[in-house]
Amino acid sequence: MDAFALKQSITNELINAIDVGVVVLDSDFCVEVWNQFMENHASIKPADIVGQSLFSHFPEIDEGWLRQKSVPIFNLRSPVFIIWEQRQYLFKFGANRPVTCGAHHMYQNVTMFPIIGDNGEVSRFCIMVYDVTDQALSKLGMSRLNDELKVASRIDGLTGLFNRRYWQERFEQAYKLAKRREKPSTALMLDIDHFKKVNDTYGHQAGDSVIQSLAHLIKRCVRETDLAGRYGGEEFAVILTDSAVDNAVTVAERLRRLAEHSQVEHEGQIIKFNISVGLAEFSPLCDSPMEWLERADQALYQAKQTGRNKYCVWQEQ
Ligand code: GH3
Ligand code: MG
Ligand code: MG
Repeated sequence: MDAFALKQSITNELINAIDVGVVVLDSDFCVEVWNQFMENHASIKPADIVGQSLFSHFPEIDEGWLRQKSVPIFNLRSPVFIIWEQRQYLFKFGANRPVTCGAHHMYQNVTMFPIIGDNGEVSRFCIMVYDVTDQALSKLGMSRLNDELKVASRIDGLTGLFNRRYWQERFEQAYKLAKRREKPSTALMLDIDHFKKVNDTYGHQAGDSVIQSLAHLIKRCVRETDLAGRYGGEEFAVILTDSAVDNAVTVAERLRRLAEHSQVEHEGQIIKFNISVGLAEFSPLCDSPMEWLERADQALYQAKQTGRNKYCVWQEQ
């Protein structure tokens, strides 16, 4: 065997041994080389595809797109990269381990580069296909997990409303917005009346059911654009966006009545409860978000002091 034939044979061995797809196409996208990786994943033998158009075997590949994509290979002699984040795959191959790895297809990074002939012209090019399924899935899994964690860290587990930390974060934005807006917004603080007695009489779990039930009523009464959160144990805070106080009292009264008439069933017992509500419309005189919320809290205190099961609106003392 002469040196050239030896080199050729080693090259062939290598091309078939590597765990990467190798395809050589001529300028009209007819297949010239089809390696073992491609044979294994596409279930097409080289003898059945060499000399034929790639597109006739893979109608799902967008011909116009791939031809366009390969223009720089011929015109500029530059390589072209297609990463899985842009396009999940070029060749639709099944994933190796669909059950264990959770992918339905192989994610691929693809490199295409020119092959320059003896005459110095580019009349063919090579496509290399890398299986990056594991990498893609771990990245996708991480970002999904991150999204889930982000949501979980904002939500109160018992009620499904925003937790205090996240509510406060959003409240600060709402305060800034209220400062710029023409339309007024109103803050509500709600607290269950004599809740200690509910816990003492029926137990802590029954108390939890009452808290959940109130949260449910709140969700029913507020709009998408309002901001509702669990502020403390049995205390809730709501910002009614674009609602002046006279409109907000209607919501407060509706909530109060719904609470008064609701019956919480816990282990065969019926529990009734009442709430008190404090309201404060945003005022430009509030120098901080807390000052605004303080006003609602003072109004709540007044509702407690003057009989409970009612709402009070903050007023300048
Ligand atoms: P008031 O009418 O003045 O509000 O009386 P109250 O008994 O409701 O008084 P307060 O608001 O101070 O009591 C809150 C009680 O809520 C005390 C605490 O044991 C209970 N609590 C706080 N968090 C939870 C919770 O997550 N679940 C249950 N079941 N109870 C809670
Ligand atoms: Mg209470
Ligand atoms: Mg309380």
